[in-house]
Amino acid sequence: MTTTRRLTGFKPTGHLHLGNLLGALRPLIAAQGHTESIAMIADLHALTVDHDPARVRALTLEQATVLLAAGVDPERTPIIVQSQVPEHTELHYLLECVAGYGEAARMIQFKEKSAGGGHVRLSLLTYPVLMAADILLHDILQVPVGEDQNQHLELARTLATRFNTRYGETFTVPEGVRPEAAARVMDLAEPTTKMGKSGGTGRIALLDPPEVVRKVIARAVTDEIGEVRRDQEKQPGVSNLIDILAACSGQAPSDPHSYGRLKRETTDAVEAVLTPIRARHAELAADPGHVRSILAAGVAAVRPRAIAVVRRTRDALGLLD
Ligand code: ATP
Ligand code: MG
Repeated sequence: MTTTRRLTGFKPTGHLHLGNLLGALRPLIAAQGHTESIAMIADLHALTVDHDPARVRALTLEQATVLLAAGVDPERTPIIVQSQVPEHTELHYLLECVAGYGEAARMIQFKEKSAGGGHVRLSLLTYPVLMAADILLHDILQVPVGEDQNQHLELARTLATRFNTRYGETFTVPEGVRPEAAARVMDLAEPTTKMGKSGGTGRIALLDPPEVVRKVIARAVTDEIGEVRRDQEKQPGVSNLIDILAACSGQAPSDPHSYGRLKRETTDAVEAVLTPIRARHAELAADPGHVRSILAAGVAAVRPRAIAVVRRTRDALGLLD
């Protein structure tokens, strides 16, 4: 039951950006030759915070289209929309019955996102259990995780192990992996925080036009030191540009003293990566019906196994078949 299968998720809470590409999408595409993966648009996770229905729907289709445009091969890597595989929600509930309130409440992301007070959706508390369901549903052995997801992956492991011990061997216990060649991209205007889909002004969305890319990199925060070198602590902005340049072109900066030159080289390298993605996206977006048929095929590909896992889980828990 256990093959090395990976799951990578993208939340349709905003436009996919350079961090998503270099940190998640590229490693997924690079692994396609040797590792089975599932790419998931995590639309249910996008509902854990205040959301605009039309925007979530549009972003779901946009993100799927960008995945294809960037090189995800749906023949090898099923692309699924989380909510279109209803077993995610069924397994979510079943796993809530083995998870503890305290386990969910102590998640750092829950504490951070709920700290502002106001209306906190209950789904924000339980979303790590949904994430555990996402992983366990597909018999996933490897989950590429950044540091921000470590705690959630740990919970998935805990729930799988607890379930197996208490109700009998049912789930594959997943492990976290650092994907090979994944870069962590920082916000260009605020280089000590990661580039994200929301917040921050130094973001490069994959579909941004060239003039926006140029402007965001030209305005990237650097420092007064005047040396082009990697020093995360003292020169986070310059280090970020060097990393982006390396990830996009494989090249090192050509002038060790010129930030202007570094920015121009980085702009050219990013443009070289984004130009074909934009072009392919425009072609694909012209035929949304085709993209939707690819998503339907993704669902069809993963569903038999998902149904089998839910059946195992129901049986183990004592539900009448
Ligand atoms: P949000 O702000 O809504 O959490 P996000 O930009 O973090 O959005 P996610 O959908 O949470 O995007 O993450 C999708 C994938 O991209 C994950 O694998 C995540 O680790 C990766 N990722 C996100 N931001 C970066 C970044 N700045 N650098 C590298 N990888 C990133
Ligand atoms: Mg995130």
